[in-house]
Amino acid sequence: MFSYRHGFHAGNHADVLKHIVLLATLDHYREKPAGFWFIDTHAGAGLYDLQGAWANKNSEYLGGIERVRSATNRPALVDRYVQAVQALNAGTDQHLYPGSPWMALQDFRGQDKLKLFELLGAETEVLSRNLGQITSAPRAIQVLHQDGFVGLKALLPPATRRAVVLIDPSYENKQDYRLVVTTIKEALIRFASGSYLIWYPCVNRLEPQQMIRHLRQLPDVQWLDIELTVSKPPTDSMGLFGSGMFLINPPYTLEASLKEVMPWLVRTLGLDSTARWQITSSAQPKQPHGHPHRQPPHRPSSLVQPKRWPIRPQKRSPAAK
Ligand code: SAM
Repeated sequence: MFSYRHGFHAGNHADVLKHIVLLATLDHYREKPAGFWFIDTHAGAGLYDLQGAWANKNSEYLGGIERVRSATNRPALVDRYVQAVQALNAGTDQHLYPGSPWMALQDFRGQDKLKLFELLGAETEVLSRNLGQITSAPRAIQVLHQDGFVGLKALLPPATRRAVVLIDPSYENKQDYRLVVTTIKEALIRFASGSYLIWYPCVNRLEPQQMIRHLRQLPDVQWLDIELTVSKPPTDSMGLFGSGMFLINPPYTLEASLKEVMPWLVRTLGLDSTARWQITSSAQPKQPHGHPHRQPPHRPSSLVQPKRWPIRPQKRSPAAK
């Protein structure tokens, strides 16, 4: 029996990275008038009360959104993210944090659709109730009480032929690492041009590194791997010391924009001198003026020296995010 509830972790450093990258990707999709689907395979409850008991059990948001919100000289993508959080609380004394479904509701357009999977009955109910409070809730939102790994395949390819897919498991179940890879392989067969955003934890275990290695080896795929660690790895396998976002078919401008964001995030969220960022990609960005040129073979290019964190195999299971 799994007990993960995102309410204990909402707004932490991992959410900061995930939601900045998600918003930037969705904004990129909205640059074209054609509609798209946002498919969230692991949606959670949608809204989280940062004044509530769950959020304050470990107060993880203090090391995430609170640091970002009170920092100055925010890069544009970070500012966009902070505004999304503040828009939710404007004119109230609430202190709510928007989960991924709410991030996708920012600047929602009539031609777009949201497909939100959540497996846990209680979280599905809260998500539906939260969405029900939006007075002009778009009819295009669908909450699906289903396994998102299974449900995703049935939705692809989307009628619009444009989609952003967020895969954000808790990895409480170790099978999730393997399921991410098999699900992505099957999804790419059905819909190769979609943008897939996969969140992963930096924990002292082998599984996340194996998962990323498999994803990087996918043939004929453009990918971008963004990682932020905020402290040195703990000695056990339990602690989350950073996180990453692995993107397939990322917006072509994202890598350059994140070069400005990531050093700022390290300065703002880093807890010790080992905090660092890394961006690795499958290929150099395309030439700006469209000179036809061959993409280099599948050889990662790093903006900083690639270095995976050290691993000490552990027996205990992780408490993921
Ligand atoms: N994406 C959310 C966000 O950014 O606000 C957070 C999601 S949380 C990390 C993971 C969620 O996935 C949990 O609410 C959990 O109940 C749910 N979950 C676990 N296994 C699932 C599955 N196989 N399919 C769909 N949801 C699942």
